Amino acid sequence: MGTKLGIFPQNTKEIFQILNIISNSELRSKILTLENTQIHLVFCSLNRIFAVKMAGLYIHIPFCKSRCVYCGFYSTTGLELRERYVDALCREMEIRGERNDIETIYLGGGTPSQLSIEQLQRLFIYINKVKEDAEITIEMNPDDVTAEFAAELQQLGVNRVSMGAQTFNDERLRFLHRRHSAKQVHQAVETLRQAGFKNISIDLMYGFPEETLDDWKADIEEALSLDVEHISTYCLMYEEGTPLYQLLEQGKVSEVDEELERQMYYTLKDRLEAAGYEHYEISNFARPGFRSRHNSSYWQGIPYIGIGAAAHSYDINTRSWNIADIRQYITGIEQGQRLYESETLDEVTRYNDTVTVALRTCEGLDLSKLTSKQRTYCLANAKRHIDAGLLKHIGNHLSLTKEGLFVSDMIMSDLIFV
Ligand code: SF4
Repeated sequence: MGTKLGIFPQNTKEIFQILNIISNSELRSKILTLENTQIHLVFCSLNRIFAVKMAGLYIHIPFCKSRCVYCGFYSTTGLELRERYVDALCREMEIRGERNDIETIYLGGGTPSQLSIEQLQRLFIYINKVKEDAEITIEMNPDDVTAEFAAELQQLGVNRVSMGAQTFNDERLRFLHRRHSAKQVHQAVETLRQAGFKNISIDLMYGFPEETLDDWKADIEEALSLDVEHISTYCLMYEEGTPLYQLLEQGKVSEVDEELERQMYYTLKDRLEAAGYEHYEISNFARPGFRSRHNSSYWQGIPYIGIGAAAHSYDINTRSWNIADIRQYITGIEQGQRLYESETLDEVTRYNDTVTVALRTCEGLDLSKLTSKQRTYCLANAKRHIDAGLLKHIGNHLSLTKEGLFVSDMIMSDLIFV
């Protein structure tokens, strides 16, 4: 029962729906005699007793040896802060002891492989209540993968590695200021396999300045030759504030045109599907049984807790984010204070979130999860996209077609409340 009680009832109908799953009839009839505010308090208590399902634990490790030109993530090259930061992460986990059965752990960055194995071991002592079959992922840079490190990660229980390969063209890797070569990606996968990793994901990028469709096809083939379980792909983005954006502003590089980008996306989709990968989310492909469980939870709107500077947390009713400043984060935690901001999610925000994350997946949006007013609004706005072949409406599900995937942002913005 307890897993659904994180949703506070918004109206009488929802109260009845939740009461239906409470088997004790005396308790049920007592709740029905209460005022609204009292009902809210009762559900607060029930949430604590039965515990909101907590699927994911995200730990942000914001250290990088050097910065890549395109990167807009929060990270720092201040490696001397690693010891204090790991202490702060452990302390934050203590302070926020609200975790339940953890089904997935994701160490993301930055570059988590910039921590020593001792530092990671220290972190894992504080991660408790982990389910036996949990998916435990670490992001690694190929040049950090050694046989010793990989074996020690296995000992810690890490069972999935996500590696930023980006491209197999060394010239482009240098342009991006990546520290590894294409050869090192192959070596890293081999090393991880020898250490026993059976679930490896790589990130790939396309849409580089001057890149041709043939260049991209060659990258896809080289990625396939690695025979990894999961591939995430991104078009190169020019984010404001990054050195790459400056190059664009100065006219030193130019974006690929939209038609080429479209061809690259469809080439990727067709080739990976032909090779047996399932295109299960706009940017993600997996061998059967190897979808990212952690990221899938995000797309299903399941609660997660984020630990560390700039990490986000979500518990159905609120979203919060830790301060994106490593020094202030550490100082705050050292003083027993988590510095963060939060927002309460009202019905409109929850609807918008549901639409934008669910449409990213191949299953699409489950219309039965919407109120009748939301469903009517959603389908009215979806109509012209359904007619244009960009969305498909089958049964209770609304999902993007192959043509719709490429223009998903435009479609989503039409379906949300503004
Ligand atoms: S290694 Fe990752 S997080 Fe660090 S700068 Fe490069 S892209 Fe950004």
